[in-house]
Amino acid sequence: MNKPTKQEIIKTLNLQKEIFGDELFIPKNKMKVSVVKEPETLFGETKLFNVEKEDWEKSTSLDQLEKLICNCTKCRLHKGRNKFVFGSGNPNADVLVIGEGPGAEEDKQGLPFVGRAGQLLTDMLKAIKFSREEVYIGNIVKCRPPENRTPMQDEMDTCLPYLKKQVELIKPKLILCLGLTAAKGLLNKRESLGELRKSIFDYEGAKVIVTYHPAAMLRNPHWKKDCWEDLKKFRKMYDAP
Ligand code: URA
Repeated sequence: MNKPTKQEIIKTLNLQKEIFGDELFIPKNKMKVSVVKEPETLFGETKLFNVEKEDWEKSTSLDQLEKLICNCTKCRLHKGRNKFVFGSGNPNADVLVIGEGPGAEEDKQGLPFVGRAGQLLTDMLKAIKFSREEVYIGNIVKCRPPENRTPMQDEMDTCLPYLKKQVELIKPKLILCLGLTAAKGLLNKRESLGELRKSIFDYEGAKVIVTYHPAAMLRNPHWKKDCWEDLKKFRKMYDAP
């Protein structure tokens, strides 16, 4: 019998969790932070599974990674996909910007943030003296959710390892999370956006701050003022790490 892949094990553990709740798992507040992220280490040092790496996990460049994952069918979102939106920008960027998931225009072009929200994101970056070319822009999920709905938890969980691998290859110093879904997806937090905006988080060695999603600001322009404060804080962190 073939050995289960890491993805299959995570899926099974998540299914178990859905059915039996958290009681099968060690409560997070009793776990060391370093063991929260890797399900195969949830049970301490005992190796329950001999996990075989998938090919994409062994990628040594973004181009190679993209080629290996662009035909992904691991979650239902692939069914409505026109183009896989891997991410774009400087592969050695110090700054990684993370959105929620592709919209209609992104799905058409295969590039992140190229619609109306993308134009606002470009302006936001320009306002703090970053060009799109010098940063890297990606999303929590890489295929467009139907009708632009919010990605579901299992879709985010399935896609997150790809983003994690991108972070490993890019090695950004700073991450800007756009909106609550991006923050929840990346950081696994439950707080409100208002709460999350107040803190600086760590993701795989990069400092993370959370601000409003540009699409939300197109709908509610009064949030731009608070977003500007977040962006200034972000630039300050970049200039004086
Ligand atoms: N909104 C996102 O979150 N990501 C995109 O790529 C486009 C719009």
